[in-house]
Amino acid sequence: MDASIKPLNTMSDEELLKIKMVVFDVDGVIIPKGTKLKENEDGTMFHMETHKLSPEFVSNLIKLKKYVKISFSSGRNLLYLRTLTKDIYDKSVILQAENCAMIFINGEIMQPEFPANYFEATNRLRNLVIKNATALKLRGFEPKIFNMAVHMESENELIYDLVKQADPDGVIYCIWTGEAYDVGLKGISKGSGLDLLAKRLGLSRDEIITTGNALNDKEMLEYGVGVTVEPNVVRGKYMTSGNGLGGHELANFLVDKLESLKG
Ligand SMILES: [Mg+2]
Repeated sequence: MDASIKPLNTMSDEELLKIKMVVFDVDGVIIPKGTKLKENEDGTMFHMETHKLSPEFVSNLIKLKKYVKISFSSGRNLLYLRTLTKDIYDKSVILQAENCAMIFINGEIMQPEFPANYFEATNRLRNLVIKNATALKLRGFEPKIFNMAVHMESENELIYDLVKQADPDGVIYCIWTGEAYDVGLKGISKGSGLDLLAKRLGLSRDEIITTGNALNDKEMLEYGVGVTVEPNVVRGKYMTSGNGLGGHELANFLVDKLESLKG
């Protein structure tokens, strides 16, 4: 572990008072990891089991909204994030879906540009994955608009050969997330999406706290005041203690501090 990553509770009041927005990653940060997904062979039936926000976390978010904007940044789709946040959703909440391929703010969707050859490449990849479903131990595709999440029993290098065949121009990235391969457009990350959002809101990087646990959070943890939940996987300026869900710990810490500093 990187010894320069400081415990969250050493964040100074001066640094805290600058914060205007908090960005939470979802899986493994504010809900436990492990979403079960199953699709039938021809894609006409789909089943998904996941988690919901705990009542204590929801009540902390409601308190936190008095002081800062709240955003959720996830690889999951927008519909999922809308359902997940239904108890706290209002104009002050911003949803960054599909690793920032879609940003839902104020009832509008903001998005980066996608070249046409991107969709052609992902369509070809989808067909190749279906052809090789047995060898890949495919569970199914998570419904998404811009990105693709290929859920499989475990990692399998074969997918990289399929990506090479499907994407001769090399426009797509493909990374294992622990339960699926995330496929998306190179250059788009939770960090580039956060930059787009920060510019729209007129926020500087030291006015944003970000928290995450995985490699797809790397760019956003570097962009803001990053709080890593898994310091052995991805670094941040600060880290949570490792007891319980890190996003819950961050929300507790911020509510306590901001209530005492701002009243
Ligand atoms: Mg995560």
